Amino acid sequence: MCAAVKRIALLGSTGSIGRQTLEVIAANPGRFAVHALAAGSDVASLRQQVEAFRPASAALADPLAPAADFPIPLLRGEEGLVALASDPQVDLVVVATSGAAGFAPTLAAIRAGKQVALANKEVLVMAGELVTAEAGRNGVLLRPIDSEHSAIWQCLQGEDRGSVERLILTASGGPFRTRTKDALARVTPEEALRHPTWRMGPKITVDSATLFNKGLEIIEAHWLFGLPYQRIEVVVHPQSMIHSMVEFRDGSVKAQLGFPDMRLPIQYALGYPERLPHRYTAVDWKAAGPLTFEPVDLERFPCLRLGREAGEKGGTYPAVLAAADEVAVQLFLDGHIGFMEIPQRIEEALSAHRPDGPLDLAAIQAADAWTRPFVLSQG
Ligand code: MG
Repeated sequence: MCAAVKRIALLGSTGSIGRQTLEVIAANPGRFAVHALAAGSDVASLRQQVEAFRPASAALADPLAPAADFPIPLLRGEEGLVALASDPQVDLVVVATSGAAGFAPTLAAIRAGKQVALANKEVLVMAGELVTAEAGRNGVLLRPIDSEHSAIWQCLQGEDRGSVERLILTASGGPFRTRTKDALARVTPEEALRHPTWRMGPKITVDSATLFNKGLEIIEAHWLFGLPYQRIEVVVHPQSMIHSMVEFRDGSVKAQLGFPDMRLPIQYALGYPERLPHRYTAVDWKAAGPLTFEPVDLERFPCLRLGREAGEKGGTYPAVLAAADEVAVQLFLDGHIGFMEIPQRIEEALSAHRPDGPLDLAAIQAADAWTRPFVLSQG
């Protein structure tokens, strides 16, 4: 049986996940067609992608970046991304934008009843309650692209959700897993940008080094799989071969393993429920060596604790968490603050935050807008 070609709108096409999504599409000819591409402000890369993949439409989130003689009509701004995400011709929307840019297009895709594959963490972290409620109302299954959540999703296939006892997220531990707290304080941006196993953009690479990323993933898992925070655990697994695990009420544990390559979870999300035959990398188990596990040291990696606490508090706290980290990581990358001041800045923002009124998009945006200058003004 030959499945129909799935028409895809890829938002965030010039970022790391976006580029790997295009590799997956190119590796599965006849299965997927690029219908629309959207980028932030990288016009040159978007132009190359448009020439290679020939989409019907394109958009640029940046309203002003010059794009003279662009080969196809170019929509602009958030409305441009929203238009692509709700285009009647599109079957599946891949949200690979970063930060708050993915929020409105994700909601638009859900409301239009599209299939939605989500790589933008902030969408679930900042607005998980709103987004999952909207997905439920519209009968939309959110397909995670994050490797840990893809692993859990794969482990849950064929299982009764009521029989899940715990989710166990694995963490590589980052490049500084074995450093002392004093040594961590001296980490430079160059060192933080070298990640041992995954190939990613600069912000998420720093977030992996602080384990902030794992804190976000706890919140993501809470919203994607509906489990309370106390039943979502994190264990350090330096080899990054087990991408996460699910423990069931009979004590049985399922894990998903594979070579650490983001194209596998991307392909699973695009092809679901089918497993597509294209294989990027296979594990040589005879040469894989031991798989090891250890607890996270929250003294050295306080960002993980902050993520969990913000998730448990709920409301606008996760929005403050995400915005504070974004500003603090930039301060670190620009050489203004030390590595261990990243969690300090986040903690100060979370302590000073005063939630106000009902939780809606405006409240989330207000919390985000309050946090950024607050973090810059501290220290
Ligand atoms: Mg991940």
